[in-house]
Amino acid sequence: MATELLKMTAQIVTSHASMNELSPQELINEITSVYNTLAALAGEKAVAVEMGAMPEAGQETGQPKPAVPIEESIQDEYIVCLECGQRFRTLKAHLRRAHNLTPVDYCERFGLDPKKYHLVSRNYSEQRRQLAKAKGLGEFRRAKKA
Ligand SMILES: [Zn+2]
Repeated sequence: MATELLKMTAQIVTSHASMNELSPQELINEITSVYNTLAALAGEKAVAVEMGAMPEAGQETGQPKPAVPIEESIQDEYIVCLECGQRFRTLKAHLRRAHNLTPVDYCERFGLDPKKYHLVSRNYSEQRRQLAKAKGLGEFRRAKKA
């Protein structure tokens, strides 16, 4: 949880609460909604309210909603993390560091086919292919000479 966001949330809610009479439940709702708004703006994860105030929130079952449509996540220059919406050339290290997910977990989470979904930008995967080809060719030449 981002401490900065919590501080900002506290400031906003405090100044709002000083002008309005809020019941404890209203206060909690207000804190959550302010935090979630700030979190969404900052690209952080939202927190779910446990009191049934938001009926559609907090269901852990089923697939999470990707940050962008899956078919739009792989671009020439970058790949978008479906978990947080950030852009990368390659996702693997980010998934482990930021979300503690393996590529397999990630694919399962969003119903992706690991054979088709490569966790890298299009250009990056093209570069890798060229590199592999060049390397293979080099090895082939060396093998012929020997
Ligand atoms: Zn991410």
